[in-house]
Amino acid sequence: MTLRLAVPNKGRLEEPSATLLRQSGLSYEKTERALSVRVRNIDLELLFVRTDDVCELVADGVADLGITGLDLLTETGTRLQVAAELGYGRCRLTVAVPQSTDLAEVADFDGLRLATSHPRTTNRFFADAGITITTVPLRGSIEVAPKLDIADAIVDLVSSGSTLLVNGLRPVVTVLESQAVLVAREGDITGLAAEIVTMIQAVVAARRKRYVLMNAPATAVNAIEEIIPGIDAPTVVPLAHDGLVAIHSTVESDEVWGVLPRLKEAGASGILVLPIQQLIP
Ligand code: AMP
Repeated sequence: MTLRLAVPNKGRLEEPSATLLRQSGLSYEKTERALSVRVRNIDLELLFVRTDDVCELVADGVADLGITGLDLLTETGTRLQVAAELGYGRCRLTVAVPQSTDLAEVADFDGLRLATSHPRTTNRFFADAGITITTVPLRGSIEVAPKLDIADAIVDLVSSGSTLLVNGLRPVVTVLESQAVLVAREGDITGLAAEIVTMIQAVVAARRKRYVLMNAPATAVNAIEEIIPGIDAPTVVPLAHDGLVAIHSTVESDEVWGVLPRLKEAGASGILVLPIQQLIP
């Protein structure tokens, strides 16, 4: 039977999910309004659905795998496993309060009303802390709830925090850190589904790393290995000129800019930094 992967058809996760699937090696052509499409080079069908329907569809067996936000997996309460964290769609589910209040800690919210699109997650968070709150479920424009006096504070997804600021709100407590995730039903993931998970994980892992190449005097190898130990150890290749070597290694993408000056100082020259497409450790 053809395997099915449910992916967001619009919204924040649509474009980065399509990019991830294509970089993972899935070849498909999607027309604007297609609800599903067959992948050309794998026995896989992509179902384009709303981000917040993905968990239900996977739980019901309509799809075998799905891409959605961790916040939605938590909120729907479906019993699924996270097969991979995808590293994009990062945000925090945050309690935010009007600037004018001095609410600051979880205990301060006892008896208050909180507007949120994540009532289940919010209720569980405060119940776990032994605090009684009332949720006011809203689908959108949650930030205006305090102004309209339908809530004392809000619990909303925040990435930069600028929307909060514009609405005179201040973040005080993080309920959940979220990012896009690949979900599957519980149990062993086997066969083609396991291969797809591996392909996707390889791209996510590769994005976190860069490939670095440089020339250096052989005497500098130890100092350079300390700076860039790589996956197992750096590759060291002799150059045509005596006493000179080429060194290849990997480095965390986030650390490249800190590492380059140190490599130069240790004697490296001709340093190249290249992207990696797939990485299987
Ligand atoms: P959508 O409503 O289809 O645009 O997708 C919403 C999903 O995108 C959320 O469930 C989160 O997982 C993710 N997301 C990432 N950053 C944000 C943000 N700043 N606000 C809302 N959702 C975000």
